[in-house]
Amino acid sequence: MLTMINPATEEVIGQLPTDTAESLQSKYAQLAAFQPKWNALGFEKRAKIVAAFNDRLQEHKKECAEILMREMGKPFKQALSEVEGTHKRLDFFIKNTAACLKDDVVLTQDNVKEVISYEPLGVVGNISAWNYPYFVGTNVFIPALLTGNTVLYKPSELTAMTGLKIAELLYASGLPKEALQVVVGGGDVGKTMLALPLAGLFFTGSYATGKKVSEALGGRFLRTGYELGGKDPVYICDDIDIAKTAEMVADGAFYNAGQSCCAVERIYVHEKIYDRFVEEFATVTRRMAVMGDPQNEKTYLGPLARKPQLAVLEDQVSDAVRKGAKVVVSGGVQKGKGWYFAPVVLSNVNHSMKIMRDESFGPVVGIMKVADDTEAVRHMNDTEYGLTASVYTKDEKRGERVLSQVDAGTVYWNACDRVSPHLPWTGRRHSGIGSTGSKIGIQAFVQPKAHHWITRD
Ligand code: NAD
Repeated sequence: MLTMINPATEEVIGQLPTDTAESLQSKYAQLAAFQPKWNALGFEKRAKIVAAFNDRLQEHKKECAEILMREMGKPFKQALSEVEGTHKRLDFFIKNTAACLKDDVVLTQDNVKEVISYEPLGVVGNISAWNYPYFVGTNVFIPALLTGNTVLYKPSELTAMTGLKIAELLYASGLPKEALQVVVGGGDVGKTMLALPLAGLFFTGSYATGKKVSEALGGRFLRTGYELGGKDPVYICDDIDIAKTAEMVADGAFYNAGQSCCAVERIYVHEKIYDRFVEEFATVTRRMAVMGDPQNEKTYLGPLARKPQLAVLEDQVSDAVRKGAKVVVSGGVQKGKGWYFAPVVLSNVNHSMKIMRDESFGPVVGIMKVADDTEAVRHMNDTEYGLTASVYTKDEKRGERVLSQVDAGTVYWNACDRVSPHLPWTGRRHSGIGSTGSKIGIQAFVQPKAHHWITRD
């Protein structure tokens, strides 16, 4: 049994039966037997089902947000915003998948025609994370279904109720149960899932687990995608509006209690404005960080979803302080019920500190002084991760110059912590490999077939 706990109250909110090797086999067998029929149904009919799901999800958005809030502690307002934001993502996939399935005639010459067609992979597995289950889940299983694959979907054990709710709404929208099956369980169940003869495995989670998954799949020729962690930097140049920028960057660091893969985790500030920026950032953080009951409209920071992360954050902060960091905003683990951690802002940090090297995935951030753009770029690239990076400057050319030297899958000029279905979401090095979103993220679920068509007399 999987015990579901509300991180805000520490109350047990549910017990779910977990999958076993036998139940996984049986789910896989159903998906494999049905996949050719699902593909034969054709894109238009599949798209109709997904469109019905898109509407139904919005009809049930409050109920969905409530479940998400209860199982992972996300403030209701932010949970609702995530469910609402899923709409345009699904719309993008519905509108753009047909083009990715269309044959490409690449040569017509004399009696020769050469064509590339695109076929689904088969049964694909999706092992997912809890921090944005609607975004990271639908980014995989929706284009997978639209392109004719069937899906074995394992939501995180922390958001298993959301995973089951998603499946309920998909089935109620006309999706045959044999097209998508939900797997309930933790890492051990995920590990068992990897033994199935899947045609693809799309993983979202930490670098440490991603590495284990990649090792477990070693030697197997299946399509894979890994969306892993980050340690995302922001560089603040000396020509910006300090108040406005501090506001945007603080939101990038603390939204969803800092539990976003692309949360701002390192801030570099030009020395000319360093002191003023640090002061403003501290003021904004204190004002913004309304912490409390996730149900409350005014709450900006809920509890952390994982209790063990409290100790990880405490360790990062004390390691930095021991090495000379200055506490600008002092927070930390809160007394009483719930896994609450008030934001901590540190200045005078450097790269010998864990807070500037290891993924925090919580409301802590370090601010470091840099002399110029060259030093900023050097520090931004001094990481094993490569998910996103931002620069704030009025000068577009300067922004472009800085970001062209940064080794990350996504770069932002005057923005941070932003996603778009039109663009690929892709990591580098320890942040993973492969893309979701955009046409590239749809093509991830098809395999090409080369046709040599020769007319003979
Ligand atoms: P996690 O690595 O702990 O777990 C992810 C999933 O893997 C869960 O479903 C878990 O049950 C499963 N799992 C655990 N051990 C396994 C094993 N040995 N074999 C197979 N499956 C196993 O990560 P998490 O705590 O759920 O999510 C947080 C992490 O995800 C952070 O590092 C965050 O940056 C990252 N993330 C990245 C993106 C992105 O787009 N790059 C998006 C969201 C989250």
